[in-house]
Amino acid sequence: MTLPHAPERPVVTTLTVGRLTVHTLQTGIQKLDGGAMFGVVPKPLWERRIAADERNRIRMGMRVLLIEHDDGLVLVDCGLGNKEPAKFLDIYGIENAGANGRTALEDALSVLGHRPDDIRLMLNTHLHFDHAGGNTFIAPDDPGKRVQLTFPNAQYAVHGREYAFATQTNERTQASYLPNNFVPVAQAGKYRFLEGNGGEVVPGVEVIVTPGHVPWHMAVLIRSAGEALLFPADTIPTAHHLPLAWIMGYDVEPLRTLESKRALYARAVEEGWRVVFEHDYDTVGGRLVRAERGIGLADVDSMPAAPDANRVPPLDPGGAAR
Ligand SMILES: [Zn+2]
Repeated sequence: MTLPHAPERPVVTTLTVGRLTVHTLQTGIQKLDGGAMFGVVPKPLWERRIAADERNRIRMGMRVLLIEHDDGLVLVDCGLGNKEPAKFLDIYGIENAGANGRTALEDALSVLGHRPDDIRLMLNTHLHFDHAGGNTFIAPDDPGKRVQLTFPNAQYAVHGREYAFATQTNERTQASYLPNNFVPVAQAGKYRFLEGNGGEVVPGVEVIVTPGHVPWHMAVLIRSAGEALLFPADTIPTAHHLPLAWIMGYDVEPLRTLESKRALYARAVEEGWRVVFEHDYDTVGGRLVRAERGIGLADVDSMPAAPDANRVPPLDPGGAAR
């Protein structure tokens, strides 16, 4: 299986959250329709912030988190994986190839000296293919193309209601939910189905149900020693989606996304949270601050301009200005 090439920029950045070390891993590029990404925002407005290609697509990342936790390595989302055919990769502009027919996620783990076998908890914010595709893989030399679990020693976790939503699709939702990404996990008895509106999954790693993109979408909040890092996943996919009304057309309940964002911002500003964006190719994240018009980003963590694959640039612990 040959996949288009993975991103040429550094794939790993490292942050500290209190006593925890958290790595952001860039698992690849995807290109989605700019109009769909910005919902009701007219193109003349969004185009000033991010350029569209000749197919009206904007370039995005598929950034995930790796948390070095006392209970073992925790991965939050896992990119697209390696199971999709060439036509799919072309439509969505996927570039995520890694070594040996696997993906940039496995490469990024190896930069840090880890293998998929080392992951102890695989947490899915939701089950769309660009977040949960990496749950499973097909070995490139397997003639039978068996779908296997990427993290054989991990417990996987997702909201139980999201699993139900993903397995009972309709004409509007089915294109995003590919059963091979999550049904084999459930069949292997590896899923811990989370309930309610959130709570700690392991000490210091909390999920917050943020409805809107899908009804049981979860954001992840990492807390240690008075510091906090928010991974809002598709509730705020890029830095361009910080304004309250900049909501994806993909969202099934956009007015609930609006309220999910409002609630996150109130807490974030109050408690000084940092943020990491899953889909922003250029901006890793920063600190959420009150701005003249709503919310702003300070102490921005950008990707270095010069491509330098597999470098691990140190970020200032605690988010001092960069
Ligand atoms: Zn997404």
